[in-house]
Amino acid sequence: VAVLQEVKSAVGAAALVLLLLGLSAACGPGPAAPAESPGVSLERTAEAVRTRGLDGEGAAEILGELCAVGPRLTGSPGAAQGVEWSRRWLESRGFEAWLEPIMVQHWVRGGAEAALLPSAAAAPVPLAVAALGWSVPTPDDGLTAKVLEVASFAELESAGPAARGRIVFFNVPMDRTLMDTFRAYGEAVQYRTRGASAAARLGAVAALVRSPTGRLDDHPHTGILAYEDGPPRIPAAAVSTLAAEALSARLREDPDVRVRLRLSCATLADVPSANVVGQIRGAEKPGEIVLMGAHLDSWDLSPGAHDDGAGCAQCLEALRLIRDAGVTPKRTIRAVLFMNEEFGASGGRNYAVSPRRSGERHIAAMESDRGAGVPLGFNIGGEATFERIKSFAEPLLRPSGILWVRPGGGGADVGPLAAGGTVLMSFMPDVQRYFDYHHSALDVPAAVHPRELELGAIVMAVMALALAEKGI
Ligand SMILES: [Zn+2]
Repeated sequence: VAVLQEVKSAVGAAALVLLLLGLSAACGPGPAAPAESPGVSLERTAEAVRTRGLDGEGAAEILGELCAVGPRLTGSPGAAQGVEWSRRWLESRGFEAWLEPIMVQHWVRGGAEAALLPSAAAAPVPLAVAALGWSVPTPDDGLTAKVLEVASFAELESAGPAARGRIVFFNVPMDRTLMDTFRAYGEAVQYRTRGASAAARLGAVAALVRSPTGRLDDHPHTGILAYEDGPPRIPAAAVSTLAAEALSARLREDPDVRVRLRLSCATLADVPSANVVGQIRGAEKPGEIVLMGAHLDSWDLSPGAHDDGAGCAQCLEALRLIRDAGVTPKRTIRAVLFMNEEFGASGGRNYAVSPRRSGERHIAAMESDRGAGVPLGFNIGGEATFERIKSFAEPLLRPSGILWVRPGGGGADVGPLAAGGTVLMSFMPDVQRYFDYHHSALDVPAAVHPRELELGAIVMAVMALALAEKGI
């Protein structure tokens, strides 16, 4: 009866009817069938998870609390508060939880300002800029130089000596015609990562990079750069798309226009931080683990609601939904909130090789780091196991809106687990809007839709439950 009441309250009359049908079949004449096949049980649990999830805004509540901590830039006090908040969230709800300490880099933004200085006696025009992660500062009173605008690395190379003494301005828009916004981002972001060193090799004094977003707005989108060994390290900043348009228009009128840039960023000493781990221990095979991962650090211009507060909220909410469905998984289901994805993914690398992994076997690890859009599918690695996982996962996930399960999978944080044979997966939401917010001041909870976020938590919970039940 207790079971019946629980099921009734959890998933309502439909599931009760299903269960009664199952029971009557088991009690009826004919060869004895198992009272409940694992498949039927998984379906009912998936329905319970979905019903409970959709009935509230649990993931959005979690996201709101996490974002209230503020930005969580790796190494910052905000990141430390994020770690503490996550640990407390897990412990206060009765989950087994612990921290896995790591050392992380600590870059600080300081101030940033830029202005376009017309050659005539007109007033300077401010340009919205944000230093790129790892950038060195300008001199204290800034630097002023003429600007060389380029639309590609090839154009920079052919300009050659013309780059000397200039601020090189990489004005390369994201390709709006591509359906896959991540592909468009991947093509545009190389100027952010490699532009500074490419410009410095030709004697440039600084680099400005058009923000990789498809929108025209006045918010710079930051992110890390990668200095190469060899060329001098020159200051580099993202410029908003509107400022990029204005600067480009001005340069067409007057190629001698100058820009003044002042950045006071700095790289400080490494500081201690941690990955946060919480789990529901498996009843039959506790050493076999299904991991749900996201990254706890964010950029510092916003609390990182989509990137990757959403993934963190989904991992925590998924644990809650699984526990509240009243099932104990066969294998352990673990949420890991990784530190320091944005400055080099050292949290993921440390997790994979930690001595704490001895005696553990991670059968599958899924990552949510593509924002809080409507769930579309899962990308799944592991050729040998793909078809089997697809065969049980797709039917279970379809009622929660998942359209496909495809080959692929992985992510910066779970990637290092591949060396141990773990099947890697990516949660794939709709990403048409993701780069509107990504790494900018616009990435706030108001940009996340509670129901869309919740659906992500639901499908991750169902996928984790299925993997924990069926194995790989
Ligand atoms: Zn991210």
